[in-house]
Amino acid sequence: MSMGKISQQIKKFIPRRIGYTLRRLKLWYGRMRYRGNNFYCPVCEHGYRFFFDGGFDLPVISEMEIVGAGKRPNAICPGCSSNDRDRLVLLALKNQKYNFLPADKLLHIAPEPSLATWLGNYQMKHHGQYIKGVKYHEGFYYGNDVHLIDLLQLPFKSDTFNLVICNHVLEHIPDDVAAMKEILRVLVKGGQAILQVPWSMKLDETFEDPNIQSIDDREKFFGQFDHVRLYGRDFPSRLRSVGFDIKVLSVNDLDLNKDTITSFGLNSKELIFVARKA
Ligand SMILES: [Zn+2]
Repeated sequence: MSMGKISQQIKKFIPRRIGYTLRRLKLWYGRMRYRGNNFYCPVCEHGYRFFFDGGFDLPVISEMEIVGAGKRPNAICPGCSSNDRDRLVLLALKNQKYNFLPADKLLHIAPEPSLATWLGNYQMKHHGQYIKGVKYHEGFYYGNDVHLIDLLQLPFKSDTFNLVICNHVLEHIPDDVAAMKEILRVLVKGGQAILQVPWSMKLDETFEDPNIQSIDDREKFFGQFDHVRLYGRDFPSRLRSVGFDIKVLSVNDLDLNKDTITSFGLNSKELIFVARKA
């Protein structure tokens, strides 16, 4: 069993509210304890002596060169627990060139806690609505302001949101195309969605097989016990197939220099998938 699965099993025994409070205490301690100047976190906007290593390794992750997975040095901020991907997404959101923010109505699915804190403050300051939702499953802690929703049946009218953020969710959903259609439906015309997934640089075509069901097999083929596929380089085409216009941003599109990429602890291979409702 992988570390990811083990840690989820342990968390199952800690009630949601206690887990949430413990997490906040741990981050407060991290912010004090590891303060410094070697790294800077654009999410919690503090400097640190170091970032923690993050992720876990499985053979398929290195063999298939999966971006957005695997053990990574300097990945986790000790003060807000943002990881390399969260920080990259935030830098894209902050970049005025791409018109993500401020958003009149923002829907954040399975909200990364560090990003959610930043976005909550930002949206409040700019009088934008900020709705967070998740399909709850044990072992994940969210505050009471996170609604329990099903991505396959979003409880919102069509043409509602200017921005949807839904990262590292689609690879868990058997009918991901139906989920993509739901996101498209609730976006206003011209609205944008940021849809990050782990994907393999080596795969031309996404690999999925409904016979791969067991935890061991999913780890072996998809790189995580609860993933149902491994996306390939065709991920943008899959999004296009439901009607999205796709823009793929790299670190180079975010006006970041080499020093910034290092001190912000970013993964320069990571791409940002932006889906726009035409
Ligand atoms: Zn941070």
